[in-house]
Amino acid sequence: MNVQVTGVIVVGAGGAGLTLATELALVGVPAVVLDRLPGRNLQSRAGAIQPRTAEMLALRGLLDDALGRSIDYRLVGGHFAGLPVPLDYAAWDTRYPHPVLLPQDQLEAVLEDRLTELGGQVLREHRLTGMQQDADGVTVTATAPGGELSLRGRYLVACDGAHSSVRKIIGADFPGEAATVRMGTADLLLTGDVDDSSSGHISSRIHTSPQGHFAMITPLANGLHKLIFSGPQTMLAERDAPVTPAEVREVLRATHGGALDVAEIRYSSRFSNASRQLEHYRHGRVFFAGDSAHIHSPAGGQGLNLGVQDAFNLGWKLAAVLRGDAGEELLDTYQSERHPVAARVLALTRAQGVIMGPQRDGGLGELRDVLTDLLRLPEANRYMAGVMAGLDLCLPSPDAEAHPLLGLRMPDLDLLLDDGERIRFSDLTRSGRGVLLDLGDTPLAAAAPWSDRVTHVRARVEAAGTGAEAVLVRPDGYVCWAGGAGLTETLTRWFGPVRTRG
Ligand SMILES: Cc1cc2nc3c(=O)[nH]c(=O)nc-3n(C[C@H](O)[C@H](O)[C@H](O)COP(=O)(O)OP(=O)(O)OC[C@H]3O[C@@H](n4cnc5c(N)ncnc54)[C@H](O)[C@@H]3O)c2cc1C
Repeated sequence: MNVQVTGVIVVGAGGAGLTLATELALVGVPAVVLDRLPGRNLQSRAGAIQPRTAEMLALRGLLDDALGRSIDYRLVGGHFAGLPVPLDYAAWDTRYPHPVLLPQDQLEAVLEDRLTELGGQVLREHRLTGMQQDADGVTVTATAPGGELSLRGRYLVACDGAHSSVRKIIGADFPGEAATVRMGTADLLLTGDVDDSSSGHISSRIHTSPQGHFAMITPLANGLHKLIFSGPQTMLAERDAPVTPAEVREVLRATHGGALDVAEIRYSSRFSNASRQLEHYRHGRVFFAGDSAHIHSPAGGQGLNLGVQDAFNLGWKLAAVLRGDAGEELLDTYQSERHPVAARVLALTRAQGVIMGPQRDGGLGELRDVLTDLLRLPEANRYMAGVMAGLDLCLPSPDAEAHPLLGLRMPDLDLLLDDGERIRFSDLTRSGRGVLLDLGDTPLAAAAPWSDRVTHVRARVEAAGTGAEAVLVRPDGYVCWAGGAGLTETLTRWFGPVRTRG
């Protein structure tokens, strides 16, 4: 059989896979994306992206397209466990202090459009069925419309979702907690009077019944609504069983007393609150990103964000290694930086599951009241806002005395360039390279040998500054040096050694 060869094989064209492929295509690293489905998944699924994901899209010039496709991006604020105190994302100095109500299929459209513009492509109806790795690469087989495809890459990234085939082929353990709640979600046409009003800071109202039904209805485009639901029937349904109008009707009758009915189910699927995480995100030349690496209930709207941000973290590192700039050890930072982030989200979603549950006994009602009071304190509100928005992330640093900016996301500052042009920091990151923002009086010379990998820009900060004379920012928007000694070492650590001409 003919074996095609590429740099990176990406399995799965969901949010994580498309982000990764786009990041690789942006810097010219060859990659092939396989997806088992015949076309893009048009079901809305996730309803929002959080502020840090919005910032990351802005770093690549993708946010305007995303906002253009969003439902109404200033409609709602953030929340923790549905408690009645809005989270104030503005406390985190972001240009996007709201979740962007962007259905998942629309985010995937934004990413795939960019991938296509960059010359990349998704091979549809290509289902990965086998995989083997050796010291130099990974070989996969996939069923394809014209027969079987065999493909070899230097690395493989499994972005193939919660039921990952790659995870199963490798035999990796997926430890965690089994599902206790089974739910369904459907994009549908409803008849009757739909109460679309958001409950203040939360995008949709939750309706429940004493028999254990719940229904959450959110407006989509084109007259459709997204229903997330459960009930006695849904709790017993098999994962692959189709969602039927009868099942949905029963839920609506129990939660809305006959005021609503279903006219047509366009798309539907089932999910649960199972909570699991891989111990190792890297198995030799195979990496895991997104739901293939971690699953949890959608409470709090974090899953897609985690996957997209995993891919932003891994993409530039894989590219640096494949171009021969950096060594393999750079890839190990993917585990140390991203594993703890998902571990915390898993813990918080489990906590939210308990807090949001229907019970009021055993002190749960009082716990909710205590947490509600706490969220009214600015400090506590800011903490939780940072967690839910993904804005508080600080990457681990070996230096305890490090500058306070180190490891944090670089704010999207207004800058005045030496030639008088006014720009935003995010205008400097479109190409996917690192950025050395040089704010001092004397230009920094040390970065010149890295000019093929790092954009060196001299500028002034328009308003409140960074408090540093210069900052070095990684392609994923995190500060890895903020003035003082050690610039050469930091450039070498993250961007690889200087190339010697020979
Ligand atoms: C009702 C609901 C609401 C949600 N709300 C939110 C929210 O508001 N915010 C949020 O951040 N997250 C939310 N989530 C979670 C979010 O949908 C997931 O975390 C997200 O889809 C994960 O993206 P992914 O790219 O990792 O995987 P997926 O989107 O699952 O993509 C995996 C891809 O891999 C392909 N694939 C699988 N197996 C193979 C194979 N063998 N060969 C080739 N291709 C394969 C699949 O076809 C698929 O396209 C919600 C989820 C649900 C169900």
